[in-house]
Amino acid sequence: MSTIFDINSLARENVRKLVPYMSARRLGGNGDIWLNANEYPIAPDFQLTENTLNRYPECQPAAVIQRYANYVGLQPEQVLVSRGADESIELLIRVFCEPDRDAILFCPPTYGMYSVSAETFGVEQKKIPVSADWQPDIAAIANNLDRVKLIYICSPNNPTGNLIDSAALRQILELARNRAIVAIDEAYIEFCPDHTTTRWLQDYPHLVILRTLSKAFALAGLRCGFTLASADIIALMLKVIAPYPLATPVADIAAQALTETGINTMRNRVTEIVSNRIYLQQALSKSALVEKVFPSETNYILVRFTDAEDAEIVFKMLWDQGIILRDQRKQPGLENCLRITIGSRRECEQLLSAINALSNQPQQIKETENS
Ligand code: PMP
Repeated sequence: MSTIFDINSLARENVRKLVPYMSARRLGGNGDIWLNANEYPIAPDFQLTENTLNRYPECQPAAVIQRYANYVGLQPEQVLVSRGADESIELLIRVFCEPDRDAILFCPPTYGMYSVSAETFGVEQKKIPVSADWQPDIAAIANNLDRVKLIYICSPNNPTGNLIDSAALRQILELARNRAIVAIDEAYIEFCPDHTTTRWLQDYPHLVILRTLSKAFALAGLRCGFTLASADIIALMLKVIAPYPLATPVADIAAQALTETGINTMRNRVTEIVSNRIYLQQALSKSALVEKVFPSETNYILVRFTDAEDAEIVFKMLWDQGIILRDQRKQPGLENCLRITIGSRRECEQLLSAINALSNQPQQIKETENS
């Protein structure tokens, strides 16, 4: 009898060991109220206008590039469009990091795809935890730059919601000058637009900025993101990008989202979400189950519950009721923390009443859970 061949033995070793990124969608759940992926709660309405699906699309659709360049005040040569900011995270590693030799550096707790992309390409990861105030530890970064080609800084940071101080960003850019790329992930910058670093591109040739249509533009399902950088860096990225990274319907809708009307609609959405965030922050901070609602510059908030048991109960009981949050309890320094996306006002109200119902009878719930 022949033994069964294990196809896994053919896979690269780092892929065999890889723990894939558990996106909100992969984690599943059966919900009516999705507050786990930092999406906008309502689907925007777009019609397709391009009817040329027999043809391959443009690699870098000119209208999309030109409109995004106008939106951010840069030249089209400084803009690359890709399949979400996630693709850009990966392209940077493929351009700048030699497997088994170079390293990337990032500061946990932060967005999970920097790690997963590096792992996939066999690139070492230097993880320098943030300090107690959730700012980068500059001295530790300075001491760990050996072989580092790429530094990812997420600002505002996911999942903590805070901005990175501009003085710290400048210190990191100075440390990296002539030796590494600094990629500032501005996926949530539309919620605090005054803090963008786009104008710094003229001072730092090694600065890269990551952007997306998935958050304030309400288009997570479109899979469309942008890289802003010097024309030289964009040219390098264009060498490694897929020949047709954006489907024709994606480019069609992205171009519409970036018209003046599209941008105004986005800004109105931001106003609405920020007002819902303030409402939710104030209401949740009064809950007996909540230890702290962290300040946020984004469309989500990080909430620390009073103890491990409360965090567990809130997460599970809400999950069972179809209100899906994002569990952050395993991230370094985020004990008892859940991340909550800001939904519509009605969703915020439903969430609050579900949490208040739990806090009114915590003892009874704990007893049931333990039985
Ligand atoms: N960066 C951060 C900080 C994010 O939170 C996300 C989305 N979760 C991304 C990048 C990826 O965005 P996209 O949907 O454009 O791939």
